[in-house]
Amino acid sequence: MSPSSKTTYLSKTVEQLQPSGIRRFFDLASKMDNVISLGVGEPDFVTPWNVIEASFHSLEKGYTAYTANAGMIELRTRISAYLKKKYQVDYDPEEQVIVTVGASQAIDLALRALIDPGDEVIVVEPSFVSYAPAVSLAGGIPVKVDTDPLQQFKLEPELLEKAITEKTKAIMLCSPNNPTGTVLSKDELAAIAAVVKKYDLFVLSDEIYGELCYDEKHTSFSQIPEMKERTLLLSGFSKAFAMTGWRLGYAVGPSEIIKAMTKIHQYTIMSAPTMAQHAAIEALDHSETSVQEMKKSYRQRRNFVVKEFREMGLNCYLPGGAFYVFPSIQKTGFTSEEFAEKLLQEQRVAVVPGNVFGRSGEGYIRCSYATSLKQLDEAMKRIRAFLQTI
Ligand code: PMP
Repeated sequence: MSPSSKTTYLSKTVEQLQPSGIRRFFDLASKMDNVISLGVGEPDFVTPWNVIEASFHSLEKGYTAYTANAGMIELRTRISAYLKKKYQVDYDPEEQVIVTVGASQAIDLALRALIDPGDEVIVVEPSFVSYAPAVSLAGGIPVKVDTDPLQQFKLEPELLEKAITEKTKAIMLCSPNNPTGTVLSKDELAAIAAVVKKYDLFVLSDEIYGELCYDEKHTSFSQIPEMKERTLLLSGFSKAFAMTGWRLGYAVGPSEIIKAMTKIHQYTIMSAPTMAQHAAIEALDHSETSVQEMKKSYRQRRNFVVKEFREMGLNCYLPGGAFYVFPSIQKTGFTSEEFAEKLLQEQRVAVVPGNVFGRSGEGYIRCSYATSLKQLDEAMKRIRAFLQTI
């Protein structure tokens, strides 16, 4: 076969991946003026100043080299102490903690460390858009489980059990959830844990919104009896500390798995950014007040947005965490995509259609309230006006 007969050099796995549906909307919105975006999944706050300063100081001191592959031991020790204080779980900073380039890399490393070709990983939908592609890129098969809107899209144990096959290796959990904002209680997690144990599964628990729980204390999956040994807790600094651009996250879990992840990390990334690691130490040491202030503001915004949607006549449950609301737009008769597209074109408000997060998200839209109350107020007025025209 001559080289010119090749139609593409791309891997089939990559070719088959669909670009994220969220991006398409942002590309549309970025070409328009006067758009209010409730689309992005990141804090509107700037990183607390003391955290920024800590990174300046690290640079002034000349800390510009690589760190240990698994991350600075000083940072790993802080992460371990933070999790101990928050969840009363013990992780050895030497063996059971790895610092990554965002929770995103933690997810990728975890899947690559666990998955052999053909292994199935359960992805609970509506889901963060990266999970299924990350499973595919690791050579696994994402098995999607739809959840029930009437149960606030919580994963019910029977649904999980139905999706399990001989090939199921792991399950991706996310509480508080993106896109639904739903938080699973200790009892709900325990019911999932019973199935996990029965079928000898492993859990990748994405707890990046763990600090952002507004009504009850967050429970980590690793706190559920007998689950610590079969859980990787994945998290990071992006959300609670308003540090999305710093690209810093972590994973904690069984030594054997952290060691395997560190091996992949060592060959692919080397180490997470050094100045960001210095900043993260400061974030864990001295940002409690800033985190609580941001949290208070998100809570106020959440309550406002939910009240507004309800007054407009849309069904909207009160999500317990993260910074998203997920109202139903079913009564408008539009699909999620049609609704989002028309709303953007007619009233210049960008939201994300629920179907991009999976089949069960159809009929819903994700609105991020990580934007000022003033902007939210204007967005709500525009959505109200839009609903009156249809
Ligand atoms: N998990 C979830 C559920 C998220 O929403 C996000 C960011 N949108 C991430 C992981 C990735 O976060 P990071 O910036 O730490 O890579």
